[in-house]
Amino acid sequence: MYLLNVLPLIFFVILNRSHPISSIAVGVGEAISLYNGTDKVAVLSSENFSSTVYQSKTAWAVEFYASWCGHCRTYANTYREVAATAWPWRMIVRIGAINCYGGANLDLCRQHGVRGFPTIRLIRPESVFDNSSKVIVIPATDAIYVTRELIRQLDNMHRRYKSWPDFTPANRVIFEELYARAPRTTKLLLLVFEKRKDTTGRQLMLDFSNYRDQMTIFRTTTDGRLWRKLHVNNTDIPSLFVILKNRTAQRIPVQQNKSLDADNRGLFNRAIRLYIHQTNSITNFNDQEFDAMDQIRKTLHKQRLTRQSAKNREYIEANIDRNTTRRKVNMIDLELALSHMFRQEIPQFKSIRGPAYDALIQWITILTKYFPGREPVMNYLERLLSKVKEQSDGFSGSKFQEIVDVKTSDAYLPTNHNRYQHCAGSQPQYRGYPCALWLLFHTLTVSQYQKELRQIDVREIPLAIKGYIKYFFTCRECRKNFMKETVNIAELDTTNKQEAILYLWKIHNHVNERLHTDITEDPKYPKVQFPSKFLCPTCKIINTNEFDISNTMDFLLHYYSESNIDSTLISKESHHSDNSSNRPEDLISKMEFIDETADRSVIIRYLPDIVQQYPLNAFLLFLILVIGISRYRHCKAKRRRYTL
Ligand SMILES: Cc1cc2nc3c(=O)[nH]c(=O)nc-3n(C[C@H](O)[C@H](O)[C@H](O)COP(=O)(O)OP(=O)(O)OC[C@H]3O[C@@H](n4cnc5c(N)ncnc54)[C@H](O)[C@@H]3O)c2cc1C
Repeated sequence: MYLLNVLPLIFFVILNRSHPISSIAVGVGEAISLYNGTDKVAVLSSENFSSTVYQSKTAWAVEFYASWCGHCRTYANTYREVAATAWPWRMIVRIGAINCYGGANLDLCRQHGVRGFPTIRLIRPESVFDNSSKVIVIPATDAIYVTRELIRQLDNMHRRYKSWPDFTPANRVIFEELYARAPRTTKLLLLVFEKRKDTTGRQLMLDFSNYRDQMTIFRTTTDGRLWRKLHVNNTDIPSLFVILKNRTAQRIPVQQNKSLDADNRGLFNRAIRLYIHQTNSITNFNDQEFDAMDQIRKTLHKQRLTRQSAKNREYIEANIDRNTTRRKVNMIDLELALSHMFRQEIPQFKSIRGPAYDALIQWITILTKYFPGREPVMNYLERLLSKVKEQSDGFSGSKFQEIVDVKTSDAYLPTNHNRYQHCAGSQPQYRGYPCALWLLFHTLTVSQYQKELRQIDVREIPLAIKGYIKYFFTCRECRKNFMKETVNIAELDTTNKQEAILYLWKIHNHVNERLHTDITEDPKYPKVQFPSKFLCPTCKIINTNEFDISNTMDFLLHYYSESNIDSTLISKESHHSDNSSNRPEDLISKMEFIDETADRSVIIRYLPDIVQQYPLNAFLLFLILVIGISRYRHCKAKRRRYTL
């Protein structure tokens, strides 16, 4: 009996032992690292960032990203490719990444003035954190460009570091002096002829930087003395020579690729390795890591091609998880979207002033007017707006964080929602915040349409959304694309009340089209043209792929109307006030499935999720139940025997 009495306690302890912070984060589907031990990317956090990156012997390229940001997930493969390429350069530069989503990492990213994800920063060797010094940003584009830019930046700073290769073209050096310019220990001296902007030579210097004591590579361009001396043809560059100790030059044959920065590095690298193996010119030479690196890059490249060919796949309606599709817009998701933007996204910015401040006022004003929220949340938004207005000169992100967390019993924005409902992905990396943000945007346009009986300026909400995206949405790629999509916002027909709803619907469908079969797409929830035939059979004109605008409008008005928003869990929750605190233990204690006030149906509803998310816990619980029941039976049988 004793065991049975303590079972609920054991159940509670088991749930609590699952690392409260990560379990909450995974619940909202976001704070999982995009990189792991198999990548050549060092995983950084607020705990190891300073000790790793600052006062380091090497430079550091660091990607600041947020795991909720779909584009960051897509970009992770590109960054992995950069890291694989740069792995042999690790004595000079290391490649790392930090997830800015979540508590302490958020503060660190704010201190570093990160304004969007992903952002790649290059940090000099032996530097200390200095807020005022100029930062070096490498645009997060394709792997070839990032690598080239990284090299250009390393080149800019190389003179300060004696142990680094000398990237300066040896144009003024005369041929006979080459050995004198190289370290005395040099056993192999190579010369690369290339165009001035080509990075092949510098990549090779970095590739073999581990052997700098035995091997020296110089680069030279077509306007230097060495060019004339060796009579290299213009059509022959890039080309590679070995300079022998007897002061003669011998060409190393390399199959060439003429386009600038095409993968000549790979071809030249292989030719050099072959030469080293044939001549045994370098002691303890081990080139296995180059092959491993090539393999990683090939695999990543192949994955990209597979994804591109998948783009042409026909969309099959039967693939859709209908249960997921059927989920209504949920108030929990809308509140979570607000919570994320106020507690995570806006505080990310160091300074909120001028046009960003105006955009924030405009955005919160829209929320106070049209968010179909319950009373305490609407009170909260009103108070937030007046608090923000009080600070007319603007404020810092951390000041905003203070304002945001002010709450009273009749005005609060809950912190105790721990999982998205409509926007829950089939895996933690899918859906979440951006999904909830879209729902919020659509809901606002429909709410305005239904609330305002008088003539309204239909651009009010699209403009406020655009302001929010422009100044605060931290997904860099989404921001850029959304700005492009909304250039014609001024042309909206202000006399047509439906215009804002349809405008946003169309833009969202463009995004869906672009992202269909993208790595960010939840396979159980493909990004189809919305609404699907399954959701709205009459929204498409029969036998065509065209939408019937009138039927679609009716559908959207219903789908995003206040009366259709699922608030079941919210009303269960509001039985107890939100004395919300951010402490994980408070959040855990409020999880519906262990809440004393929660009814059995809620527990049963979440049981599959609990088992899926905490398989070990579920197994332990099962074991305890089995032991408990058998002990109970055993004791009962024993007692019966004694009474007999
Ligand atoms: C403004 C904005 C711009 C973005 N731009 C990019 C980008 O450039 N690159 C990128 O990788 N990611 C971008 N994202 C994220 C991306 O659009 C998705 O939000 C994310 O990948 C999650 O997708 P999802 O499958 O949950 O569905 P989402 O596309 O987020 O949709 C959420 C819900 O909205 C409803 N819905 C879907 N389509 C429509 C529609 N046309 N009209 C009305 N309701 C609809 C459905 O119920 C759906 O479940 C952006 C997000 C936002 C908010």
